[in-house]
Amino acid sequence: MPLAKLPPDPAPTDEELATIRGVPVASLTVGDYIFGEMEWQRLSQERDPNAFLVRYATDATNFGWSLDYRDYLKSKEWKKIRKRVLESADYLCAGCGGTASAVHHRDYRPRVLIGEDDAPLIPLCSECHDAIHIDNKAADAWDKAEAALAALIAMNEAKISNLDTTLVAGRLYLEQQNRSVQSNDDSSSSAERRSR
Ligand SMILES: [Zn+2]
Ligand SMILES: [Zn+2]
Repeated sequence: MPLAKLPPDPAPTDEELATIRGVPVASLTVGDYIFGEMEWQRLSQERDPNAFLVRYATDATNFGWSLDYRDYLKSKEWKKIRKRVLESADYLCAGCGGTASAVHHRDYRPRVLIGEDDAPLIPLCSECHDAIHIDNKAADAWDKAEAALAALIAMNEAKISNLDTTLVAGRLYLEQQNRSVQSNDDSSSSAERRSR
């Protein structure tokens, strides 16, 4: 399956913004939109810590959720999740089909970090993992990593389907060969029978 895009974050309606700002919808200003949306996000986050995509674990603290990501990577919980993801992929790298040794986070929502949602966790070999994190300091690093990951997965899947086509063609060829060998056998045996 090609890499599915993560669903977009929810956005407030004008009515919700107007309620938060205490003004009628018709008189919402640019400032109401900006500050209203900030407040709406804070309230949504309070109601549901998993409401928004967390692009990097360091961002998690922006939502009032403190976590040292390096400590997390040393935790027993993460080791368990990592092992589970690698095992369920038979240790195959999603990017190249090599041996996966790393698990990449597309999303650092609390539910992913506590192991309730493994879908955004992608098994990768160290080369593929390094390749997608090549531009980690860029402002759009997360988007770049997502695009690179999608491209690697698409290439790997094309390779697998080519391989499948080759295997199917090979199997058909062998079957045909067997059939002609068999029919030769049949005709020779019937010829033998006839001659007897
Ligand atoms: Zn790989
Ligand atoms: Zn990663």
